[in-house]
Amino acid sequence: MTDHLDRDPDAFDVVVIGAGPGGSTAAARLAAAGRSVLLLERRTMPRFHVGESMLPPTNALLEQLGALDLVRAQGYVVKHGAEFSGGSTGKYGRIPFAGQGPGRHPSTFQVERAHFDRTLAHFARDKGATLVEGATVRELLMEGDRVVGVRYQRDGRSHDVRARHVIDAGGRASKVAQTFGLRKYIEGLRMVAVYRHLTGVEERHNPGWEGDIQIHGHKEGWIWAIPIWPHTISVGAVMPQAVLRAGDAETLFDEHVARAPRISARITGTRPAGGLHVETDYCYYSDTIAGEGWTMVGDAACFVDPIFSGGAFLAMTTGMRAADTVDELLSAPTRAAELQEAYSNFYKTGYDVYARLIYAYYDFDYNLRPFLKSVGFDLAGDEMASNKWLVRLLSGDFWAGQNVLTHKLREQSRWDTFAPFEPAWGCPFYEHLNQAEQENEQEVALATS
Ligand SMILES: Cc1cc2nc3c(=O)[nH]c(=O)nc-3n(C[C@H](O)[C@H](O)[C@H](O)COP(=O)(O)OP(=O)(O)OC[C@H]3O[C@@H](n4cnc5c(N)ncnc54)[C@H](O)[C@@H]3O)c2cc1C
Repeated sequence: MTDHLDRDPDAFDVVVIGAGPGGSTAAARLAAAGRSVLLLERRTMPRFHVGESMLPPTNALLEQLGALDLVRAQGYVVKHGAEFSGGSTGKYGRIPFAGQGPGRHPSTFQVERAHFDRTLAHFARDKGATLVEGATVRELLMEGDRVVGVRYQRDGRSHDVRARHVIDAGGRASKVAQTFGLRKYIEGLRMVAVYRHLTGVEERHNPGWEGDIQIHGHKEGWIWAIPIWPHTISVGAVMPQAVLRAGDAETLFDEHVARAPRISARITGTRPAGGLHVETDYCYYSDTIAGEGWTMVGDAACFVDPIFSGGAFLAMTTGMRAADTVDELLSAPTRAAELQEAYSNFYKTGYDVYARLIYAYYDFDYNLRPFLKSVGFDLAGDEMASNKWLVRLLSGDFWAGQNVLTHKLREQSRWDTFAPFEPAWGCPFYEHLNQAEQENEQEVALATS
């Protein structure tokens, strides 16, 4: 733990609230850019957190951040794909990340979040951010409508810290969302999750691919299985709130997991490592993402559902973009409104596409295939695994304007989340590849016309 430094209250360019993946990414990036950063975390690392399965462009982000080798060295499980099954027959299909095409990271990590978040928080500290743990931000300091710092509590003492900008990466407990009353709950998607870690996993029982996430849809929700260490697996049952209210969490967990034959096979002989966790009220968004003196990152402003493992990736990607935006606006304060609008549109584009993918799964009874068929992607068996648009989308391709499937999703106005906004297309990681591909396709079209 870093000891609190009694710094000059005006000493920080940026205060970041929360050392989850979004906050630590933002803090590391800003510190690397030479900004003075105070990263405040209310818990003491390592601390338990849900959200263990990553998406492949996370590796591209970690590379840009300079943290990929460090993360690789932690020995996390390597994830090469995602397996989807449904019903009682055990019928399944697999999305291999290699199907994104050349030049893109074909794998990523499955992590124990307590370990991963600490690694990233310490990385931010090593980049020069001041990390203070056990420090709970109680309120935002205001001058008129402008946020000018935070008041936080640590060891029973209250501290006021001024900052030129505050990044709120406090996740579901966001102080900014609370203070300004920004959060809107998504009534049509009141899902809850019941999950636990299991130990004693033996790979020989896995009917699928080593390291893959498994997702199984059934009539009342879906189940996840995420290997987080060689002998430990996270298993969760996601269901409508009403189902949990009518039953007992432990019984429902066992009963739902038993509906997934391939997951049940994989956890043969395992035993619980720790208790059962329940997560509720995680489907929400905000139409305002940034304001005078503040910017929200990751779960602070929106979270819809974990089905396609996008949460940590979106938090880190928006953390990175927020850091670049704040760095720029601190150098050019007169451009703050314009820069923040661009950031907000970027934020909403990513979360909006991810949310639409989720609705496509939920609206067709926990199955993506009927939606794909309805928009002309009648993909059978292996065709799903080899369709680059689908594989890229399921790999986290949320900002690529070229992805034809993304546009099919955006045509569905019933799946709008945010009030109308200007989409900010442009993949933060692979835009050069997308452009080259488009140019190539245009040349081929010209040559054959
Ligand atoms: C059931 C479920 C399953 C999920 N599974 C996945 C998955 O497999 N893959 C995936 O990518 N995502 C998953 N997610 C989503 C993932 O957990 C989040 O999207 C991700 O953690 C968001 O990161 P963040 O940095 O925005 O917020 P967080 O990770 O929540 O970090 C916020 C941090 O801020 C701190 N904080 C909060 N308030 C204060 C305060 N006032 N002062 C100081 N510190 C504060 C908190 O202690 C915390 O450390 C899942 C979510 C749910 C609900």
